[in-house]
Amino acid sequence: MINYKDLGLVNTKVMFEKAMKGGYAIPAFNFNNMEQLQAIVKAAVETKSPVILQVSKGARQYANQTLLRYMAEGAVAYAKELGCQNPEIVLHLDHGDSFETCKSCIDMGFSSVMIDGSHLPYEENVALTKKVVDYAHQFDVTVEGELGVLAGVEDEVSSDHHTYTDPAEVVDFVTKTGCDSLAISIGTSHGAFKFTPEQCHVDPATGRLVPPPLAFDVLDGVMKELPGFPIVLHGSSSVPQEEVEIINANGGALKAAIGIPEEELRKAAKSSVCKINIDSDSRLAMTAAIRKVFADKPAEFDPRKYLGPARDNMEKLYKEKIINVLGSDNKLVD
Ligand SMILES: [Zn+2]
Repeated sequence: MINYKDLGLVNTKVMFEKAMKGGYAIPAFNFNNMEQLQAIVKAAVETKSPVILQVSKGARQYANQTLLRYMAEGAVAYAKELGCQNPEIVLHLDHGDSFETCKSCIDMGFSSVMIDGSHLPYEENVALTKKVVDYAHQFDVTVEGELGVLAGVEDEVSSDHHTYTDPAEVVDFVTKTGCDSLAISIGTSHGAFKFTPEQCHVDPATGRLVPPPLAFDVLDGVMKELPGFPIVLHGSSSVPQEEVEIINANGGALKAAIGIPEEELRKAAKSSVCKINIDSDSRLAMTAAIRKVFADKPAEFDPRKYLGPARDNMEKLYKEKIINVLGSDNKLVD
């Protein structure tokens, strides 16, 4: 049994309290390789932002849960080496699918876990979430639950349609389970293809597709029922069209990749939304940079020469999110 505090990590409790008071949201970036982690840590240090490192089931299968845990421990040391005296880094399990998975992460030093029982009947979701909370709270590990179902595909989590969160259920769920934060469904979705072109309209100024707005009425309903309670948005990549265009101009074939407009996320970040999950955008930034090197320099075969630009491009993206979307910059104490 390893406690996250011994690794220099923090849980989400105080982080979310400050985010709630300050009207900003904490970035939750997924990682599964060294370059991504370096980019996240550098971006967080240079902008003085707290950050949540997220590990999905797919990442655990790809990179190994133990290795990722050691990488997160390394992230704390790296942040300090970069000059950050008091980094605030959470290691979070994204979409935990069972009590056993959550327990195994808690036992090896994760400071926060999500138990995703959103696909289960309501009472089963309550029971499973409560079981995880009861275990996690013994070790001061925070727990994110979920009500409502997001559309889209992210690793093994997939659904072909949204089921918005029902504000009438949230008080009962939070009270019965004791969870520390709640992921809700208001129209964000997993992956880079969040909407079909038929669901969008064309912006006459840019010629680009604009998706339907998020269901802020559902968010308002949840906030009315649970004032001051931390809310989480999954599937909140904006799918930057510049990156999609670079990918497609250099041999890629991403058709009609559409994300959530940044204005909508900025608005959400100022509300009770304390954590915003971004994964696809970093995949796009990485892929665009690598494709460009491959197209421009076909003789290049040193991985550092394409993973390096990929890392730089991700770092730029993370900083842009922190400063222009989440507003979590300059929140660390020196
Ligand atoms: Zn998710």
